[in-house]
Amino acid sequence: LVELSHVEKHFGRLHVLKDINLKVTKGEVLVVVGPSGSGKSTMCRTINRLESIDSGVIRIDGEPLPEEGKDLANLRAEVGMVFQSFNLFANKTILDNVTLAPIKVRHMDRKDAEDLAMDMLTRVGVESQASKMPSQLSGGQQQRVAIARALAMKPKIMLFDEPTSALDPEMVNEVLDVMIELAQEGMTMICVTHEMGFARKAADKIVFMADGRILEENTPDEFFEHPKTQRAHDFLSKIL
Ligand code: ATP
Ligand code: MG
Repeated sequence: LVELSHVEKHFGRLHVLKDINLKVTKGEVLVVVGPSGSGKSTMCRTINRLESIDSGVIRIDGEPLPEEGKDLANLRAEVGMVFQSFNLFANKTILDNVTLAPIKVRHMDRKDAEDLAMDMLTRVGVESQASKMPSQLSGGQQQRVAIARALAMKPKIMLFDEPTSALDPEMVNEVLDVMIELAQEGMTMICVTHEMGFARKAADKIVFMADGRILEENTPDEFFEHPKTQRAHDFLSKIL
């Protein structure tokens, strides 16, 4: 479903992605881990073209990513993304946050978009908050709204970039639970996270990045019990 081949990316003189090769098949959950600055966020952002690449190819469903224009909006609709910061529109209600893209990009009429939005908000358990403003919700609730907003576009794949790292500890699980449910329902997902419990439970594959390279790709059991590289071993001994 998603394929990166020989992807390279520089920020000026900084070489942030080095020969990245990765395949994610339909329904697969890939968890990306690695030290700070290793290029995890940048890799995620290249997949919905928030960052351009210098060379290599990224394909979604066999199609190379579009360069610009209308196709880019469609791409972003197909590739849902949830960030560390919730990125909700502060001056719009929860319901409007979720209906906005279906109305604008998918040209749904308002009533259908609202029905869809309520379904998605129910799915993540925040339907009772629909008429509130984002600032009236807890961080965990806002992040679940962000997930609902992405799901309303019926994405082929969901990208999560440390979705729980800005949350108070007691709210982390409510967001992880939604993600685990999505994984169980067969959503294709790429998740950058430091939540190793989630990785063990939900991941089909773990990718370990360091210094802009994928150093290791492994099953969760193998990765946690017998990491193949010294770097992964050192990384795990620091966080576990
Ligand atoms: P973290 O775990 O801290 O989120 P990360 O693995 O997500 O780290 P990236 O955010 O992808 O790492 O950053 C990789 C490298 O690229 C870092 O050295 C970072 O400083 C640099 N970088 C990221 N975005 C930019 C940018 N827009 N301009 C210049 N350098 C950048
Ligand atoms: Mg990051």
